[in-house]
This record gives sequence, C-alpha cells and structure tokens, in this order.
Amino acid sequence: MTMSGDKPFFRFHPGAYERGAFIESSKPCDVCAQRSVWLYAGVIYTIGQGPSVCARCIASGRLADHVDGHFSMHDADFEDDVSADLDAEVMQRTPGFATFNAFQWPVRRGKPFAYVGHGEEDSTWQNRDAAAAIRKLYADEYDEKLEGTTPYALVFKELDGRKHIAILDLD
Ligand SMILES: [Zn+2]
Repeated sequence: MTMSGDKPFFRFHPGAYERGAFIESSKPCDVCAQRSVWLYAGVIYTIGQGPSVCARCIASGRLADHVDGHFSMHDADFEDDVSADLDAEVMQRTPGFATFNAFQWPVRRGKPFAYVGHGEEDSTWQNRDAAAAIRKLYADEYDEKLEGTTPYALVFKELDGRKHIAILDLD
C-alpha cells in the first residue's frame, strides 16, 4: 500500500486532512481490518454507531458496502437533482465537516460544488474568493455590508471552475 493509497484525495472536500476530518492512527479499520493510517474523525449519519473507518474505505466505497441501510457522511441534501453516481460520491464517499445545522449542498447544472470551508475557520477568510462569497451572501440576504467576519456561512466552489458561493449556516 502506497502512502497516496492511504491518503486518498477527496475532490468534493479537498481540505479534509488539513481540517481534521481524519487523525493519524494505527488502529485497525472496522471495514478493511487494515491499519487505518488516516482514521475518520467525523460523523457518519446512520442508525446506531457507525464503524471506525479509514480514508481508503471511504474513498473506495467499501464503507458503503459495509453499512447496512441508508447512511450519509453529511447532514445535508442536494439543493437540486444530481446523478446517482455523484450523489453516492458526495454523500457516501466524501468525508464530512462540522456545521451548525443541516444544509442544502449547492448544485449547478447537475454538478455538486466542492466544499471549501466554514466561516469559523481563519483559512476561509484568508481565501479571498471565499471571503468575497460570504460578503456577497450577506449583501444579498441582509442588504447590508458585512463588517469583519462571521461564523455563520459555508463556502463551496465549482468543481472545475473558480466560482465560489456561500450559504448560511446559522446556529
Ligand atoms: Zn479501511
């Protein structure tokens, strides 16, 4: 197993490792029984306790085969229709992130956006496109200029483009 194999990239949540969605661990994964290396530290929304799962098994879909019945990595629904493949990739093969509330995952022309960051994170405000998207959200929603920062937003970007959008995540 190569290092990159142990640490797969998640295109709909590219900052997952930096954000702490995984911790380095030698604990065995409940799904593949191998050393986790990168053990998922987030929530799996399912009936009862979700398994301890490694990054490999999330990315490959082995987790989806392992869990009986419906589960999701996110407390979210898509705001618009997406294909079954993309639905499964985002909802079951992409690590989650902390939010205050359930949210509607942005979609344009059938393509889900990729998660960039939360208003609570300094890295979001250091990202000029992300900060601009939150300021635009506040201008549109509240018809006022946002002074300083706010924790109440989630930022996404087009998977293959530069467009960033923010949505409210009120506590
Ligand atoms: Zn595993």
